[in-house]
Amino acid sequence: MSNDQKQLFDIQPQPWNLDDQDDWLAARVAFSDAPYGPYDYSIPSNLESSVRKGVRVRVPLGRGNRMMTGYCVDIIGPAHKLASTVNPARLKDVIGVVDSKPLLSDKLIKLANWISDYYICHLGSVIDAVVPPGVRDNSGTREMLFIGLADGVLQKIEDGEIRVTAKQRLVIDQLAKGGDDWTPRELAETVGCTQAPISTLRRKGLIVSSKRRIQTITHEIPEEARREDLNLNEDQQKALDRICEQIECAEYRTFLMHGITGSGKTEVYIRAIQKVVDQGQQAIVLVPEISLTPQTRQRFRERFDRVAVLHSHLTAAQRAWHWHEIANGRVQVIVGARSAIFAPVPNPGLIVLDEEHDGSFKQDKAPRYHARDVAVQRAQEEGIPLILGSATPSMESWQNSRNGNFDLLSLPSRILDYPLPDVRTIDMRVDFGGRRRSGPISQKLRQEMRRALEEKGQVILLLNRRGFSTRIQCPACGNVEQCPDCSIPLTHHLEGRKVVCHYCDYAKPEPDRCSDCGGAAIRFSGLGTQKLEREVCALFPDYGVQRMDTDTMRKPGSHEKALAAFRAGETQILLGTQMIAKGLDFPNVTLVGVVNADTTLHFPDFRAAERTFGLVTQVAGRSGRGDKGGRVLVQTFSPEAPAIVSATRHDFAGFAEGDLPEREALGYPPFGHMARVVVRSESKTAAEQMSEHIGEQIGLSGDALNLPVDILGPAPAPVEKLRGKFRFHLQLLSPEQGALQEVVRRAQTTIKAQENVQWIVDIDPQDML
Ligand code: ADP
Ligand code: ZN
Repeated sequence: MSNDQKQLFDIQPQPWNLDDQDDWLAARVAFSDAPYGPYDYSIPSNLESSVRKGVRVRVPLGRGNRMMTGYCVDIIGPAHKLASTVNPARLKDVIGVVDSKPLLSDKLIKLANWISDYYICHLGSVIDAVVPPGVRDNSGTREMLFIGLADGVLQKIEDGEIRVTAKQRLVIDQLAKGGDDWTPRELAETVGCTQAPISTLRRKGLIVSSKRRIQTITHEIPEEARREDLNLNEDQQKALDRICEQIECAEYRTFLMHGITGSGKTEVYIRAIQKVVDQGQQAIVLVPEISLTPQTRQRFRERFDRVAVLHSHLTAAQRAWHWHEIANGRVQVIVGARSAIFAPVPNPGLIVLDEEHDGSFKQDKAPRYHARDVAVQRAQEEGIPLILGSATPSMESWQNSRNGNFDLLSLPSRILDYPLPDVRTIDMRVDFGGRRRSGPISQKLRQEMRRALEEKGQVILLLNRRGFSTRIQCPACGNVEQCPDCSIPLTHHLEGRKVVCHYCDYAKPEPDRCSDCGGAAIRFSGLGTQKLEREVCALFPDYGVQRMDTDTMRKPGSHEKALAAFRAGETQILLGTQMIAKGLDFPNVTLVGVVNADTTLHFPDFRAAERTFGLVTQVAGRSGRGDKGGRVLVQTFSPEAPAIVSATRHDFAGFAEGDLPEREALGYPPFGHMARVVVRSESKTAAEQMSEHIGEQIGLSGDALNLPVDILGPAPAPVEKLRGKFRFHLQLLSPEQGALQEVVRRAQTTIKAQENVQWIVDIDPQDML
C-alpha cells in the first residue's frame, strides 16, 4: 500500500531515503466529504511558492487516484513539530493549486481546528462553514483576459528589429501609455480598430496576456445621515471605561454586560467600537438573525462609514463581495448572525455578541458550533476583548461571571430613568373555570388593550404558536391528526385550507373526517397566531393589526415592512411569535400581552424555565420604552412557576438563584458538561439497537480512559419520529471539561456502523427534542 493514504496511521518508522530527509515539504489537506482526512501530500518544487496554508489544492485520493479538491491546512517540513507524523517518501504529489490567495488566515485555521476538536466534526466541513460557498465558487466574479506589452518591445521597434503596421503601432502606443487593465475589446474600442491587430501582436509574442478574476457585482452600501453621540449615563460610562481599558491594553477578556431591556447596551457597544475603529481596527457584531432589522442596520450605519450587514437574504455573490471587502480591510464594522463570527477581518479589535442567551447562535447541523463559545476562542486567539450582552444572560455565561471567567458589567436601570413596566399575571385557570369561556384574550387583557389604544398607545401581543388551530382531534375515537412522517400533531392553516407539519413541512388539505375511525365530527382547537389575529380583528375592528410569524414573513423585506408600518403608527396592534419579542424599540408601545406564557414551560428540556423566563422578560421589555410608561399582562395557567414569578418582577438574579442549584444538583450545564447522541433510522428496532450499542461503547470507553461520564438513556427522543425516521437519544454528562470529547472520540473507533442508521453527536446541545 505504498501509495495509500493510510500511511498516516503507520506506527513503524519507515526506512525512507536518507538523502531526502531534510529536504521535503508536505501539505496537510482536509476534505469536505468522506474520507475527510486530513491527509498529507508532497509539494513538488514547482508548486512550492503557490501551495500555502489556507488555499485549496487538487490532489489524487485513494487507490483510484480520484482527483479531489481539499483545503491545505498546514505546511509541514523537517523542522515542523508534526514532522515525525509525516513519511515524505510515501506521499503522493499535490497536482495543482486552486486559489491564488489563502481563503483563511492562520488564525482562522487554528479556530477551525479548535471547532473540529471541540465539536467532534471534520475539519473540512468546519472550513466549509467558515468560508462562504459564494467565495469558494467565485460567485459574482468572472475570469477575464488582460493584455500588456512584452518586455522591450518599444525598444526593438525603435531599433528597427521588428516592424509593425500602423494599426499595430497605435495599439502598442496605447499600451505603452500604461495601465494594465486592458482587455482586448476595450483596447480595440479605444484605439478604434478591430481586434485583429491585437491578435496578431499576441501571436508574435509582442503582447502578453494573463487571466485574472474580477468582481462583476458591486453592492452599494446606502449612506445614512450621521448622528451625534448621546451623553452616556453613569452606568453606561462605567461599562464603557472598563471596556476601553481592555481595548487599550489589547488583551483578551470577556465581558458579560447584563443590562435590563432598554438600558442602552447598544450605545455602549457603539462607543467601544468607535474606539476600535479610531485605532484602525475592525469590529464584529453578532446578533440573532431576527434582529438584523433596518433599525439595527441604521443604528450602526449612522455612526460608522463602512458597515457590512450580513443577513440571510443576501445572494451568494453579494455575500462573496462582502467577504472580499472585509478581507481587504475595507469594512469597519461587520454586523451579522452566527456565521459572521468567521468574518475574515484582517485586524480585529473587538467582538460583540448581543442577546448572547439566544438559541440561534447554536448551529443545528454539523458543525454544531455555538457562536458564543467560538467567539470566546476567537477573541482569545486574536488577543482582543469580547462583549456578551443580554437582559437575560444564559446560565452558562452567568455562572462564568460568578466564578470570575467573565467580567460582569451591569446596566441596572433604563435610559432616562424610565421605569420598567408594571407586570401582572392573569390566572387563566380562574378565567376559564369560573365564568363562561372568554376566548384566548381574557376580560382583563381586553380592557387594558382598549385603554391603551384609546390613549393612542400601541399594543404587542405574543403567542408562540403559528397557524390557526394547533390541534385536530376526533371526539369519537380521540385520535389526534399527526404528521405521517413525524410524531408531531398537524397544525391547521387557513391559507390554502391545509394542515401542516411544522417540523418537516408536510402538508395536506384540511381533513373533514378522522383519518383513523372516519368519524365526521372532527374538531379543530388550540390557538395559533392566525386564530388570534382573527379574534383581535373582531374585537378591535377600528385598529390596524399586523401579524408577524414565519408564515407572514417568508418574503424578503416583509419583516421590515411590517415593522415600519408599526413604527409609523399605521398599525396599532402587533401580534406574533417570539419574532416580536426581541430587540424592538418602539417608544409608543404601552401594553404588552403574553397570550399564553406556558407554551415553552413544560418542554422536556432542562432549559425550559430559562427559556420561558427569557421570553417573557424580553417581550415585557418592549413595553414602556417612552415617556408614556407601560404595562405588561401575562396570561398563564402556572402563575406560581418560578420562571413566571421572576419575570413579572424583572428579577434575573432571583431567577438564576433558584434555577442554578437545581442544575448543580443534577450535574447539568453550566456545572457539568453535556453531549447528546441522536440515533436515527427508518427502522425503530435498528435505531434502538444502535443507541444501545453506542451507549455500551461509550461506557467502555469512559472506563478505559478512566474519565467520569454519566450516560442517561438510551431512550426514545421527545420527538420520537421525524421525517420518517425513528429517533433515540442518549445524554452524556461529565463534570470534566474535555472528557466527553475524549470518550466519544475513543468510542467512535469501536462503534460498528450499521446500515441505514445514522447517528450524530451534539456537544453542548441546545435542542433537547
Ligand atoms: P438595550 O439594547 O439595552 O435594550 P438600547 O441600546 O436599544 O437598549 O437603548 C434604548 C433606547 O435608548 C434607544 O432608543 C437608544 O437610542 C436610547 N439611548 C441609549 N443610550 C442613551 C443615552 N445615554 N441617552 C439617551 N438615550 C439613550
Ligand atoms: Zn412532519
